[in-house]
Amino acid sequence: MSSPEEHHELGPSTLKYVEICPGYRSSNETNKFAEEGTMLHSAAETGKLDGLNDEQVRCVRTVLDYVKKISTDADEIHKEMRVKVVYREDGSSIFGTVDLVIIVGTHAFIIDYKFGYGEVDDADINIQIQAYAKGIFDKFSDLKTATTVLLIPRRDELLEAEYTREDMEDVGMRLDLIITKAEEETPDLRPNTEGCRFCKHRLTCQALSDKLLPIAKKYEKSVDDFQTVLWHNYDPAQVEDPDVIGKMLNVASVLDRWAGAAKKQALKLAEEEGREIPGYDLRWRTPSTKIENAQEAYDTLAHLLTPEEFMEASNVTLAQLSKALGKKLPRGEKKNARGTIEIALEEAGMLAAEEDRDRTPYLKKAKKL
Ligand code: SF4
Repeated sequence: MSSPEEHHELGPSTLKYVEICPGYRSSNETNKFAEEGTMLHSAAETGKLDGLNDEQVRCVRTVLDYVKKISTDADEIHKEMRVKVVYREDGSSIFGTVDLVIIVGTHAFIIDYKFGYGEVDDADINIQIQAYAKGIFDKFSDLKTATTVLLIPRRDELLEAEYTREDMEDVGMRLDLIITKAEEETPDLRPNTEGCRFCKHRLTCQALSDKLLPIAKKYEKSVDDFQTVLWHNYDPAQVEDPDVIGKMLNVASVLDRWAGAAKKQALKLAEEEGREIPGYDLRWRTPSTKIENAQEAYDTLAHLLTPEEFMEASNVTLAQLSKALGKKLPRGEKKNARGTIEIALEEAGMLAAEEDRDRTPYLKKAKKL
């Protein structure tokens, strides 16, 4: 039987990616979306909304309203419940934490909050919430049925599925299959744009390198180590098909993260361990010369520069001005700060009319978890 420690890397929240590629293991790196998710989970658990912006308050309220509605007849309510998920007859298990479990008689509501923008797998195939359901049925022996609920306020979605205790046999088999494949000595690696960017093996993964480095070779003539033909010889400049160029952008995004991780590791080896990275010198940037307090700078230099000369040397941006005004506006009106500043400057002739401003297009990845 495996101990929790042996399987701690394979928690329910990682199983989706492990099912896609058995070699996947979470890098556990944080980012602003993950940090926001943690903050909103905490607010949903405690009901304290201090410090949240309007949109975040709306998301947490959506969750709290739903929970209030289904809690009316509850026999038991468990927040942030840690569950053991047994996936093999020998008792092998993984552990996870369910956001909320509500027991009503022999029925359970098993609820997971998703505060991101990304698409979430439907509740009837979602392996994370299925694993939680397995753990909850095991924990509460009187349960006969359960509703799994994925609450996704940013997408205005609520995904539900109904399960019986008998369904848990199939769920257990699915979990066993995923984890058994993941435990193989040489798992069948499947590079993919969903999981690789969050995988801790992405720097050293041969399968991922084989997929990505030919693309790097196309633009780095000095790299002669790779002979693989680039993606069926697709040159981005020749591609007319939006589906193909979309896939190329996905791969580019993984490549960007891979490159970022390589740079970070190289810097760590060079700076912290004094190792030499062939072809690269360790340098330090010049400390920032940005002056934070314009008023103090003006007072200090008043004997050297006239007000006009000082203003000529100063830069202000729309973003800075909007932020300054936003700080003074009451809650709910902060979002109008930018518009107010733009209109005032336009009317004073200091800002080009909206239709005359630079509208150079660019692509931004749709928001995801
Ligand atoms: S980096 Fe490698 S091991 Fe990790 S998910 Fe991608 S293909 Fe799998």
